[in-house]
Amino acid sequence: MKTLIKGTLISPISKEEVLFLDPGYIVINNEGKIDEIYSREPDGQYPEVFDFSDKLICPGFVDIHNHLPQFTISGLYRGNLLEWLNNIVFPTEERFANAEIAEKYAREFFQAVLRNGTTTTVSYVTIHKKATDKAFEQAEKVGIRAFLGNVLMDQKAPEYLTKNSAQLLEDSEEIVKKWDGMDKGRLHYVLTPRFALSCSFDLLEGIGKLAQKYDLYIQSHLAESKAELEMVSKIYSDFENYTDIYMKAGLLTEKTIMAHCIYLNPDEIDTLNRTGTKISHCPSSNRFLQSGIMPFRKLEKAELSIGLGSDVGAGYSLSMFSEMREAIESSKMIKFLHPEKEYSPLSSIEAFYLATLGGAKALSLEDEIGSLDVGKSADFSVIDYQKLNPCNEDFFNEPENIIARMIYGGAEKYIEKVFIRGKEVFRTE
Ligand SMILES: [Zn+2]
Repeated sequence: MKTLIKGTLISPISKEEVLFLDPGYIVINNEGKIDEIYSREPDGQYPEVFDFSDKLICPGFVDIHNHLPQFTISGLYRGNLLEWLNNIVFPTEERFANAEIAEKYAREFFQAVLRNGTTTTVSYVTIHKKATDKAFEQAEKVGIRAFLGNVLMDQKAPEYLTKNSAQLLEDSEEIVKKWDGMDKGRLHYVLTPRFALSCSFDLLEGIGKLAQKYDLYIQSHLAESKAELEMVSKIYSDFENYTDIYMKAGLLTEKTIMAHCIYLNPDEIDTLNRTGTKISHCPSSNRFLQSGIMPFRKLEKAELSIGLGSDVGAGYSLSMFSEMREAIESSKMIKFLHPEKEYSPLSSIEAFYLATLGGAKALSLEDEIGSLDVGKSADFSVIDYQKLNPCNEDFFNEPENIIARMIYGGAEKYIEKVFIRGKEVFRTE
C-alpha cells in the first residue's frame, strides 16, 4: 500500500545545498521508504493521502549524543564537569537500580525526544542491565530509532555505579544478543564506556574485543574539560595522549562516536581521522559546564565526520533546533576570541546539515536516514509554516530564511506530527 504526502519539503542535500519544494509530494511504499519525490501532484491512486498544505516537511533529526537518565536534571547547574557528575548525575543514575523508575524515565524520555522532531537518538542509559533492557523495551514500543548502551564504569565513580570489568562485559554481551539490530536495525546496542577516567585499561580492552566480535557501535567522551584531561594524564601516564588510550584499547573504529573533542592536538586529530572515528559536537553542554568551545572548523578541515549531540542533561534541551542555534553562536564566539584569525561562523544551512545528514553519516546511515530522498526511510516531522511566518512575508520563502527561522524561532513548539518509516509516532494533542 502506497501513501502520498503533500507539503512544503525542506531537506539538506549537502553542507551548502538544500532541497526546497513548495509544494512537494512524497510517495511512501509499504516498507516505509520514500519511493518518489515530485514537485507536481503525481497521477495514480493512493489509498492513503496526507495533505499537509501550509506545513513544512522536515527530515527527522539525529541526536548522536545524550544521556537518558539525565533529561529531568537538565539545566541544574552544580559546577564544572567533574563536580556536576559527583553532585547531581551519579545520585540520579543510582535511582535506575529500580526497574520501575527506569521504565518510567525511558518512556517519558523517548516521548520527549519525538516531540522535538528527533527520530534517531544515540543515548547512554546507566550501568544497570535491567534499566537498559527497559529502555530498549520502551524504544521498541514508541517506534523511535534508538542506539542505546549501559554505561560501563569500573573505577573512580561511586561504588553503587561500578562493577568489575568481567561482569560489565557479561552484561553487555547479554544485552547485545537480545537487542542489537532489532526491528530491521531500528534498535542498536552501543558499547558505552563513560570516559577513560572511569574505566580501567582492562575494561577498555575488553570493550574493544567485544566491539570487534559483534561489529558494535561504541560511544564515549573525549577531551571535554581541562580538569578531566589533567586527571586522565595522571592515571594513564604511560600513554602519549588521551586519544592514544582509546586507540590502544581498540576502541577507535568507523562505528565509534566520541563526544566533545575540545582539546585535541594534531596527532590526536590525525588518529581520529585515520580510524574513521566520528565526532559529536555538543555546543550547549560545552558552554553549560564551562568546558570550552570545540574548534569546529579545525576538525572539519581535518575531514572528520561531525554530527550534533544535545548531550542532555549537561545540554539543557532535547531540541535540535536549540542545539543548531548553539552550534552557530558558539562558532561566532571563536571569532570574538580570536579576531586575528580568519574564521567563518557556521551558517544556518550548515547547522541544519549537522543535525540531519551529519548525524546520519556519523552512524554510517546516510543511505537510510538524515534527508528526504528516494530510497531512504520516511522519517520526518510536520511543522506549522504559518506560525513561523505569521505575517506571510514573501522574502521569508527562501530556504535559508526558513531554516534560520526554524533554528532561531524555536520551531520545536510548532511540530505537529512526527513519522518514522512512514508511520505516525507522535502528534500534538
Ligand atoms: Zn555526554
